[in-house]
Amino acid sequence: MSKNHRGKGIVDQYRHGRGTCPNCNNTGIKLMYEKELNGKKSMVCKICNVTLKKKEAAAKSAE
Ligand SMILES: [Zn+2]
Repeated sequence: MSKNHRGKGIVDQYRHGRGTCPNCNNTGIKLMYEKELNGKKSMVCKICNVTLKKKEAAAKSAE
């Protein structure tokens, strides 16, 4: 479990794991995290990973 999202760990991925984030529309960003968006699994950037995680936690604590 070390540096799975950096360097050699991602060079064999499509465009080194970079693309456009479906959540924040940032281009040329590394999409390293699988998240469910609108019921569909997509790869999102680490910023969205944290944002979505926080949203989930907030929704859970509000229940
Ligand atoms: Zn994003």
